Parts: sequence; C-alpha cells; structure tokens
Amino acid sequence: MKIRVFISLIAIIITSPLAFISAKTPAQKTRVVTVDHGAQDPAVSPDGAQIAASIFGKIWVMFIAGGEARQITEGLGWDTHPAWSPDGQFLAYAHQLPSGTDLVIRNLITGGASTLYHTESAIGQITYHPKGGEIFFLLDRSQYDSHLFRVPTSGGEARQITYTENWHEWSFALSPDAKEVLLDSGRYGGSDLYQIKFDGMQVTRITRTPAHEFSAVWSRDGKTQAFIRTDNGMDTVMVQQTKGGLARAVFSSPYDQKQLAIHPDGQSAVLCAGRRLFHLNLASGQSMPITFTARFVLPELSKADLIITNARLVDPGTNKFMPNATIEIRNGRIAAIRAGQEAVGLPAGVTVIDVGGKTVMPGLMDNHYHYWSPFDGSTLLSRGITTIRDPGVAISMGMNFKEAIALGILAGPDIYTCGPLIDGLDGYHPYVDVELNKPEAAATLVRALKAQGVDALKVYFLLNPEVLRAVIKEARAQRLPVTGHIGVRTGWREAMEAGINGFSHIRVWRDFLPLEKQPQGENENLDSSRNLMARMQANWSEIDPDGPSAESLIRMMIEKRIGFDPTLAIQRFNDSDRKRFGLEQFTIVKDSYRRMARFVARAEKMGVLLLAGTDNDGLFDELEAYAEAGIPNAAILKAATVNGAEWLGKKNEFGTIETGKHADLIIVDGDPMKDIKELRRIHIVIKDGRVVFKR
Ligand SMILES: [Zn+2]
Repeated sequence: MKIRVFISLIAIIITSPLAFISAKTPAQKTRVVTVDHGAQDPAVSPDGAQIAASIFGKIWVMFIAGGEARQITEGLGWDTHPAWSPDGQFLAYAHQLPSGTDLVIRNLITGGASTLYHTESAIGQITYHPKGGEIFFLLDRSQYDSHLFRVPTSGGEARQITYTENWHEWSFALSPDAKEVLLDSGRYGGSDLYQIKFDGMQVTRITRTPAHEFSAVWSRDGKTQAFIRTDNGMDTVMVQQTKGGLARAVFSSPYDQKQLAIHPDGQSAVLCAGRRLFHLNLASGQSMPITFTARFVLPELSKADLIITNARLVDPGTNKFMPNATIEIRNGRIAAIRAGQEAVGLPAGVTVIDVGGKTVMPGLMDNHYHYWSPFDGSTLLSRGITTIRDPGVAISMGMNFKEAIALGILAGPDIYTCGPLIDGLDGYHPYVDVELNKPEAAATLVRALKAQGVDALKVYFLLNPEVLRAVIKEARAQRLPVTGHIGVRTGWREAMEAGINGFSHIRVWRDFLPLEKQPQGENENLDSSRNLMARMQANWSEIDPDGPSAESLIRMMIEKRIGFDPTLAIQRFNDSDRKRFGLEQFTIVKDSYRRMARFVARAEKMGVLLLAGTDNDGLFDELEAYAEAGIPNAAILKAATVNGAEWLGKKNEFGTIETGKHADLIIVDGDPMKDIKELRRIHIVIKDGRVVFKR
C-alpha cells in the first residue's frame, strides 16, 4: 500500500475581507495527505474526457488518463456516487451526513450546489436521464431494501419504481432512450439481472445463475451491455449484445468489489477494482491501470505528546495497579510510566493533564462492530472505544473507512477488519458477503482479501464444511486469524479440528445439543434464510451449560486457543420485548438467555479467551451482562482491552498501558474494577496521544 503523507506547515494566507474579520484566530496550519487509491463509484463524463469518482468520501474529477485529481466537494459530508449531467456541466452525488443523505447537484462551472432530495437512509447509484431533466437513484434503506427511484431535476416528488419486499438492487443502467432499465435484483446474497420496461413494468430476466450479477452498463448507442459476475470469489466482466445472444466473458480476476463505468465510445469502460481504476477494452478484455493522485489538505494534527499526572493507573492486561502514576506520551506512544509526580524526559511546553486521582485505563475494544457508516467513529470514541474489530463489511467501503480514520480524514477508532462475510450460496447479507461453494476456489479468494488489506477473516453459517476447511487452511498459510459465525452447516468442533481461531455469537447451538437433536448438515431445510435466522434465536432449553457436553466443548476451545465473542447482550430481552414473542416463546427466550450466560461465564472461568463484542453499539451493556453472569470485573476488563489485541496478534501494539504501545487511554471517574458500571462515566478519551473526547 502506498500512502504518501507529506507533512507541510503551510499557513493559510488570509486574503478575503470576510476572512479578515476572524483574523484574530491564528492561521490554521495544514498538512497534505496524498493518496493514489481509495476510489469508488467511477463515472465517465459525456465527452469521454474525464472521470468523476468518490475518493475517501469526497468527489474528485480527473482526466481519463489519470494524473492529479481535482477536488470537487469538501466539508463534513461523506460523498459518493457521482453522476454527470448529459451536458457535462453538473455532477449529482450522494452527500451523507450524520443526519441522513442529501442528493446534491453541483454546477461544475459556478461551484454552486443545491439539494434535490433528502433521506434519513443512504443513497446508492445515481444516474441522469440521458436527456437531462430527471435523475434516477437507488434509495438504500437497508441491506434488504434498496430500490430504484426517479426525481425531476427541477425538484418535485421522487417516485419509487421498484418495490419487491426483502429484495435489493445495488446498480442499474438506463437504456439510451430511458424507456428501459437493466438492473440487478436479488434476495439475500445473490442477484440476477432484469430488464424492465418502465411503460407497463414488463420484466425480462436476463441472467439465471447462482452467481451474483451486478454493475450493469449500457452503451450510448444502445447496442452493448456489460456487467460483472461474481462467482466463487472471482469477478468476471461479461459483455453482451442488447439484441440477444450469449454474454461473453472478457476479463476475470479475484473478487475485489469491482464496478464498471462505460465510456461514451461504447467500446471501453473504466473499471474500479480494489479501489483502483483501470481502462478496460470491452472487446479484447485488455486492462491498463489509470494512475491518479488525490491531495487532501487537512488541518494539522496537534502534537501527540502529553503528560498525565495524578493517575490512578489500572491495567487489567498486566495486572498493574499504581495509585499515583505519571504517564508520559511521546509521538502517540507511551514513553514512560513513573510512580509519583515526577515527569522527566519530555521537553518543556508539553501539555500536562492532572487527572486528580481519577482512574486511567487502556482504551476499550469492541470485537464485534460492523463499521458501515462513516460517522460512527465519534460516538465510539466518546464511549472510550479506541479499537474495533469489524467482523464483516463491504470490503471497499470498509477499507476506505479504516484508512480514512488512519489518515485523519475521519474521526474514529482503529479498525481491524475481516472484510466481507465469506458465506455459502444465497448468503443472508447481500453486498457484504462473498459466496463460495467450491473448496478449490477458497485459496484464491483468501489471498485476494489479504492483498486488499484485511486483518482477519470471518466465515459465515451457510458455508459448507469442506469449503470452510479450505478457507481456514489458506488463512493459516497467510497468517490471517479466522473467526466464525457458524454452528449450523458446520459445527464448532468440526471447525476447531480444521483450525479456526474464533467464534462469534453464543446463540448457535449445533454443538450443544445431543446428537439425535442436531440438524444434519445438508439435509436441513435452508431454503429460507429468514426462517433459519428465526431458528437461530436459539432454544437452549435442552442445553445444559453445566453438563459434561458443554465442558468438553469448552476444553476443546481452550486447547485450540479460541477467541470467543459471544455477543451475549443481544440475546437478552426484557419485559418490554414480551409482545415480540408468543407467551411460551418468551419464557423459552428468557430461559435460553440464562443458560447462554452460564455457558459464557463457565467458559471464561475455565480459561477461554473472552472477546467483548456487541454486534451493535452497546459495549457497556455487553460488559454488564458479563458481570451479571458472574464473571469477575478484572476478566471483563481484559475481554474489553487486551484480549482482542492478543487474538489479532497485536499485543505489542495496544491493549495495555506499557511503554512502546499506542497511547490509547480512558480516564474514568470511578473504579471499574469494583463496579463495571463506572465505565459509563468516562471523563477523557485519549487516542494515539491526543485527547479525542472530553466530557
Ligand atoms: Zn455481526
């Protein structure tokens, strides 16, 4: 990965009279961060001369041959999905803010911008009507509800075109006369292409495969269509004639979330692959990289040097307790820890924070946080979470968030990502999963994900056992730890035999039931993932967490050094949830929770590496659930700090307060070692030696 960071102390020269009024504030120092990747959602200008793309959440425009990109949007939003107006004068794009998403139209000549549509949800692909006057876009309400809309550019009401419940569309291509659309549509992971005539909504199905077909494009002369087919971890660009005939494979490479943008010549396309851009000849399949740079001008970061005095240092990972410590931080890392007030070794002028005897602990880690929204980071930091493990995300988006935080473009915790969910066919999470059903396809996919920068892998419950084994085998060769939300098609014992490193979610039950009550592999009815999910809200009434079967499973988890992320709190329901369940079901759910909590506490006590994770944002709830289950506070705090670092093989980097480690610290009013609820009273959060939250 090439990220070139130029630190330059350029003072902004104040010239405009308006700015002169506020000239008392010192000139803001800036730094320039230059990136050569991070592109998504390419769009070729109508004259074929330029490419617009979203690069780390801003819209940029570059020449078709690449080079230095020009920044079009700035400010707080996360901007994606640019679309050119037919005359090339306007760019429409999705402008995401914490409060929702605007569909914005920007005049490229005057720089003026106006909002055409607002939603509390997200906006996906945007396309102008080929004659202008109207914009088509995908309203992405959830991963199961993403549908096509059209709205006049003069304002007025947006109209929904496609509806099917529990289906989704991620991409579409309009015909040159805008009377038809070629659109991907699917339920669960896969999707097929459909051609729809707007007049009468007559639908023709174009593809019929277990693969995922998407990112369709349609040439301006109407003759050619192209799309991407993802099958068993390989992406293939397919080209077909609109009139009919077989689609032809012209280019193929391992899965890296490709997107196509057709050139107006109809003969070539811009291919976005692994957040980089390529020219693709649609006839020959020849591809050529488009190298580009995008220079972000960002506020200069404050110095990451700090002295913390009067600290009541509590470090669960090292069992260290110092009633009155001084912690010295230099360049974002812990430089020294001393008893008493004396600070030495740092030059004068370094910021000193006297915390007045408050507790100083390592920053917290959520081991199960799906980072799907750019603005989650500030909230996480305010709760003391300075690191997360993301166990499943659309990989290009996830890598952009991870790097944007690392570069200081977004605020947030350090992200260790698993990339996409590796699932079997018809996976439950469209767009976030990549589906495999051939063991021989596993190694290529694992290497491709590693090349895209994942830190670990996540396997999912529809994966067949032999494919799961092949994934784990290559992951071990690539030194990527694997965690699994499994226990349906493949049992935990089987996965441990194969060398898996972790389990997510306590609720899956296959290994806990006596053999005759276990579902038997392929024979179980998996025709509806929805039913399966309901059944996974498991009935534990016949599982004995104190019995010998649970004990032997726990022993194996210890022996195999499994990192166990039970997400216990999401299994807990209170009386207000009663109406969601039947009378009997509610009793079962409550009883099941009690048994799951017993199992988690027993596993921890016997020595399983417990990883605190939430699957939402309730880390304090999760930790308090552990406490209620009888897990000692010291063990709970380890599960939320050092254990996750250990699982990732990053114990030298973070998770404890020791010299050389990242200065990720929380300052708490009370003593969480005595009462875990005290963690809710976080006073100051420090990440990499900088105060990122202060109450
Ligand atoms: Zn999850």
